[in-house]
Amino acid sequence: MARVLIVEDEPRMRVLIEQVLAPDGYDTATAGDGITALALATQSPLDAAVIDVGLPGMDGFELCRHLRKHEVNIGVLLLTARGGLTDRVTGLDSGADDYLAKPFEAAELRARVRALLRRQQRMPAVVTVGDLQIDPLAARARCRDRPLALSMKEFALLRTLAVDAGTVVPRSTLLAEVWGPPEQFDPSVVDQYVSYVRKKLAASGTTAVITTVRGVGYRLDPAA
Ligand code: CA
Repeated sequence: MARVLIVEDEPRMRVLIEQVLAPDGYDTATAGDGITALALATQSPLDAAVIDVGLPGMDGFELCRHLRKHEVNIGVLLLTARGGLTDRVTGLDSGADDYLAKPFEAAELRARVRALLRRQQRMPAVVTVGDLQIDPLAARARCRDRPLALSMKEFALLRTLAVDAGTVVPRSTLLAEVWGPPEQFDPSVVDQYVSYVRKKLAASGTTAVITTVRGVGYRLDPAA
């Protein structure tokens, strides 16, 4: 059974989220603040967390950064009252996998949590593509034992391409897997991040390359 942590300081909202997720039969844990959430997440295995951005003390962004720093490998969905670009960018930079603006539809929340869990379970141990090694659990990539300095989004992009290395991954799939629902993100963000990852791959000296397949998407090849 998947274990889902709900972090929200408002008791009514916390109960509501639990009720919305109840039909999916998760084993849920709840926390009212970031410190408690961090303690729970580092002490017991969790699969996903639904984290409200507005928390007393440590906010949701900060909690997310702490979780990643502690290498807690869970899917994180951030709940935000604000749908502004700055919040979205801050959320993604802090290592969240997805975000949902309040107020949200119950069905939408359930679908997002299911998607997070699917992504978690699909992850293999370590993926090797040419001289690149991608470790989804540690969220680290290496080229011949030298680490690549990638942001969380860059890593997620490389990981998604690596899992299906040698196969074209549609741009829309990359957008959905790495960012979230296509209607909320500009697909050009994919191209932008592919260019960042390409630069870092080139700098690392790897033989692996990201090939553009015009009109379709991108493919990670072990060598050019
Ligand atoms: Ca709150």
